[in-house]
Amino acid sequence: MRILVQKFGGTSVANLECMKQVREKTLAARAKGYKVLVVLSARSGETNRLLTLADEWSRDPEAAEVDALISTGEQVSVALFAMLMKDAGVKARSLLGFQIPMRTDNAFGKARILGIDNEKLTAMLEEYDVLSVAGFQGITDDNRITTLGRGGSDTSAVALAAALGCECEIYTDVDGVYTTDPNMCSTARKMDRVSYDEMLEMASMGAKVLQIRSVEFAKKYKVPVHVRSTFTDTPGTLVTQEDSTMEAVLVSGIAYDKDQARVTLRDVPDVPGVASRLFGPLADSGVVVDMIVQNPSRNGRTDMTFTVPRGDLKKTLTLMEDIQKEVNAAEVLHDLHVCKVSAIGVGMRNHSGVAAKAFEALRSMNINILMISTSEIKITCLIEEKFTELAVRTLHDAFGLDKDSMLG
Ligand code: ASP
Ligand code: MG
Repeated sequence: MRILVQKFGGTSVANLECMKQVREKTLAARAKGYKVLVVLSARSGETNRLLTLADEWSRDPEAAEVDALISTGEQVSVALFAMLMKDAGVKARSLLGFQIPMRTDNAFGKARILGIDNEKLTAMLEEYDVLSVAGFQGITDDNRITTLGRGGSDTSAVALAAALGCECEIYTDVDGVYTTDPNMCSTARKMDRVSYDEMLEMASMGAKVLQIRSVEFAKKYKVPVHVRSTFTDTPGTLVTQEDSTMEAVLVSGIAYDKDQARVTLRDVPDVPGVASRLFGPLADSGVVVDMIVQNPSRNGRTDMTFTVPRGDLKKTLTLMEDIQKEVNAAEVLHDLHVCKVSAIGVGMRNHSGVAAKAFEALRSMNINILMISTSEIKITCLIEEKFTELAVRTLHDAFGLDKDSMLG
């Protein structure tokens, strides 16, 4: 039995017209001989609408009930789609998370998948040609409905493909993953292939094509994920394992993230325990600190600079008030108008000079770098927000990403 998982996002199932296009994609896979497991999201806007409802009706909506509520959006999609398939003469049925079952832990709103009963699924695929499966939802061991976090249908789809040992197509309203944001840089190019690690970096930097967790899942279980458009027939981008052709390209994409604020604790004693005193409470209150720089000390004192998501700045500054007094820091500075720009590529692992090239490109445009961080496959510069677009374009150009392939 040849099986394929196809996932369609909210804009792909928004109305009858769109859903008919989805049906064409599924029928095309059927014509190639596949049994198709179609994972659907809620129709666009629906999950938000349901979340607003919960807030209007309750002062403090219980997480388990929020999940019971917001999972209904997907139920609507899969029932309607099963009907459409039947109209086309295909043997199809809908399947909710609890009917699979898609077992999860009980972290409501961000549940993790624990296991999928693939024997039951395979048996159902023997009986039906198309299964219309609700994404985003699961069930706990004690029978409560859970959801997997926003964008979670991607993860449902990849997990199902992993369980069935098949490929996964993710259909969306863009035709693939681009070398950078096409709205910011007109020479951005669709990538044919991208490695899991690069995709993880791009996703975490705000290239919002796939939920990060789905990429982690795909990487762990080596599921090839094909990102493509519902509305065209172009090939899309394959997210897959790294190979030697990928390594030959130094930089494969430029990402940016404006959701950043910079905080400096100035003039603190350079003694053991200061970093722990500083970052412990931030971690405890759920603030994800990103870049961190500690300057070399002068006369036993130093500065600590770090970045946090903008939405967490207020919380961070409140925590800093106490810490400032305790560690006897001179002052706390902050800046909201910063942006992180990154060059990403697995080819960096084996090449030197990539960072120098990025810095030179930024210098050529007179863009000042405020902070730098690097990993094996990423160079990140924090810059003033007003230079974001210029920096993205400059780096995109400098690494030749507008050209078809650096290999020629
Ligand atoms: N409907 C859910 C959301 O809007 C899940 C998904 O679309 O992937 O986040
Ligand atoms: Mg999505």
